[in-house]
This record gives sequence, structure tokens and C-alpha cells, in this order.
Amino acid sequence: MTANTPLTIALSKGRIFEQTLPLLAHAGIHPLDDPERSRKLILETTDARVKFVIIRASDVPTYVQYGAADLGVAGKDVLLEHGGEGLYEPLDLRIARCRLMVAGLPDSAPPTNRRMRIATKYVRSAERYYAAKGEQVDIIKLYGSMELAPLVGLADRIVDLVESGNTLKANGLVPLEHISDISSRLVVNKAAWKMKHAAVNGLLESLREALADNQN
Ligand code: ATP
Ligand code: MG
Repeated sequence: MTANTPLTIALSKGRIFEQTLPLLAHAGIHPLDDPERSRKLILETTDARVKFVIIRASDVPTYVQYGAADLGVAGKDVLLEHGGEGLYEPLDLRIARCRLMVAGLPDSAPPTNRRMRIATKYVRSAERYYAAKGEQVDIIKLYGSMELAPLVGLADRIVDLVESGNTLKANGLVPLEHISDISSRLVVNKAAWKMKHAAVNGLLESLREALADNQN
């Protein structure tokens, strides 16, 4: 990386942090604190120029869009909802992989006397999916525990992320339609891409190498 260019990287706790760390380690970047144990929201790293900001997964694109972080790691699901304004998305990190799916109760026919109700956190993706199918549906925005909605009659279907399918299964639901494959992406603020190009590009190259090593 280029001498003395400070870089701020936005990460969320949990699977993204855990799965991004080995990739950043390849670039010689290790956090000095563990975000699961520390309450700090800004973490220094072994590279004095690089710091992490620890934020909610769905806030990562916003921090990067406004330049509060130069780079970030965000799920494609989150990026599809955000819209990607002000961001470049130069690299698929192939971590936190899952699928965005329609799920529901087995053998449940769509209602005939009204529009189908779809409960989801992923309103934009759900709207786009049903619009492309030419189906008129009512989307109900939820913030979590989507699996409950069909069980209590709030919705006919849900649109949610599925990894193993165990959460669906535990609630008596089945995956019905595949919408898209999801993985986490490196996102870069557009101004930082220009102004800090050498530093950003150096990091990008290290991450590309780390991914190539992982494949071997
Ligand atoms: P928050 O917990 O703050 O509401 P979140 O639930 O989106 O946000 P995480 O659970 O850490 O946060 O998920 C972060 C990202 O990891 C998601 O945006 C998605 O891309 C991916 N992800 C979520 N659930 C799974 C899963 N079951 N398997 C694999 N990847 C997942
Ligand atoms: Mg979660």
C-alpha cells in the first residue's frame, strides 16, 4: 500500500467480520481488538494507516457512500436494497454465501380473492422479483423473524435469505423459489477510488491474491 494514505474499512460484526479477517490478514492487516469482546466501534489495526469501523450490516453501504468509510464489506442482499449509489463494487469476496428465496408453507395455494402478501426485510428485491414475473403482490416490510409471518397469517409467503434451510424447516416452511445467489462484496467509495487509488488498489490486489490462494 502507498505510504501514509489512511484507509477506513467498514465491517459488520459476526459472519462478515469473521470471514473477512483471513482475507485482510493476507494484506497484513490484523485488528488490535476483537469486536465481539470490545465495545469499541473504531478498531485500530497492526497497519497504522488502516482502521475498521464496526457497524450494522445494513449500514455499511451508507457509510461508504458518504465517504465516512473508504471501503466496506457488504452482502449483495444489502447492496440490492441500498441501490449502490456512490459505490463501486469491484470484488466478490465469495464469503457469507447464501440464497435469496421465496418460502412458505408446503402445499399452500396462493389466495384467489386478494393479492398474495409477501413479508420481507428485502422490499426492493421482492418488488423487483414479482414485477419481473408480472405478479401483483402486497409487500409487508419486516425487520426480522420473517419465518413467523406465514405461521400466524400475516403473509402468504416470505422472501428471505436461506443458507442450510434449517431455520425454515424448524418452522415448518419450505423454500419455493430461488431469487438470487448472495455473497459479500468489497465496496469502495467513488471519491476514495480516485483520491486514494494507489492505496485502494494495493488492498484490492492483496484481497484478490487471498481469494486466489483460497481456491487452490
Ligand atoms: P442485523 O443483524 O444487524 O440486522 P443482518 O442480520 O443482515 O443484520 P448478519 O446476520 O451478520 O447481519 O448478516 C450479514 C450478511 O451475511 C447478510 O447481509 C447476508 O449477506 C449474509 N447472511 C445473512 N444470513 C446468512 C446466512 N444464513 N448464511 C450466509 N450468509 C448470510
Ligand atoms: Mg442476521
